[in-house]
Amino acid sequence: MNISTALERRRLLQWMSLTAGMASAPAWAVNAAQGVSSIRPQDSRVPGGIARLSLGPAATRPQLSYNDAPALVLGDMIEWTALIGIPLSTTPGEYTLPVEMDGQLRNKQLTVQNKKYVEQRLTVSPKTVDLSPEDNARYEREAAHLKTVMASLSQPFPIATNLQMQVPVPGRRSSSFGLRRIFNGQPRNPHSGMDIAAATGTPIRAPLPGKVIDVGDYFFNGGTVWLDHGGGLLSMYCHLSQMGCKVGDMLKTGDVFCKVGATGRVTGPHLHWGVMLNRAMVDPALFL
Ligand code: ZN
Repeated sequence: MNISTALERRRLLQWMSLTAGMASAPAWAVNAAQGVSSIRPQDSRVPGGIARLSLGPAATRPQLSYNDAPALVLGDMIEWTALIGIPLSTTPGEYTLPVEMDGQLRNKQLTVQNKKYVEQRLTVSPKTVDLSPEDNARYEREAAHLKTVMASLSQPFPIATNLQMQVPVPGRRSSSFGLRRIFNGQPRNPHSGMDIAAATGTPIRAPLPGKVIDVGDYFFNGGTVWLDHGGGLLSMYCHLSQMGCKVGDMLKTGDVFCKVGATGRVTGPHLHWGVMLNRAMVDPALFL
């Protein structure tokens, strides 16, 4: 295949979409032509962000790894795109990613820019910072279990090229992704999700089709549900008052599967919503 320009590629893809019986060209093709991008997730090459790496044409789905996990690769033989979740702990700089394309290794460059997330210093009673030996033992057990949940990498890959998510619950964002919290001078892990303030009992809806892969009650996270959207894209819902689902349930976008609460270590009712891509927690806002 020898397709010289992006425009020709787009035209060909539009033509293929039409002949395949689709009503219109994919959103990204139309928007790329208009110079506006409504495609999700947004490209944001910073720690906690997502890189949309264009891989070009290949007869079969290209393969690459990042963060010791296979990256999500979407598209078709005309144009493949890798969606790469960049962990918050990543050092900004240049990275070379070997990509396997039709049996050949090619190097792709990824530049991760610096991002300064907001810092919050809090002074709290030492009791709320230090865990008792019993609580610590519980936390260690739960952390080991969560590791197995987060390793989920199911097939099939998402079919849609645009992975725009529906907000799981309406409400004010009470804490943004990436916030760096320092309790009594001790840095904690940065905030790995988005907090949405809502009353206890508010229904939470699936932001994309997904499969329930974990339902549990955890020390820090309280009532928690994990969804698997395929190809290494997972989402988590914490501090729930009610989990109206069980492992193995298949959800459609908009299905109610749990309710907002204030369980676990929280000061008030809210949803902590996390999104994970190739085992990196990334900013959920990039999908909205
Ligand atoms: Zn949170």
